[in-house]
Amino acid sequence: MAGANCQSCGMPLIYDKEGGGTNANGSKNAEYCSHCYQKGAFTEPDLTVGQMETKVKGQLKEMHIPGLVANLLIKDIPKLKRWAKNRDSVR
Ligand SMILES: [Zn+2]
Repeated sequence: MAGANCQSCGMPLIYDKEGGGTNANGSKNAEYCSHCYQKGAFTEPDLTVGQMETKVKGQLKEMHIPGLVANLLIKDIPKLKRWAKNRDSVR
């Protein structure tokens, strides 16, 4: 799982202290982090990709991630699995 990123926010899962989100049956979900995905559902289902970018930008800043790295992570957010399938609903 080294190098795996959350498919919702793009955050590397190694930074997730919970080690990933959880499925409806309580098992670990390897695609999404614990901030985005809990018990088989997105924690903020109505979030748009633009709102996610803003949110992640703030989180990365708090985590003292260098701006260059942060920008790369944010740039890839729209390509992640969560957003790729409903690109049409993005403003
Ligand atoms: Zn996430």
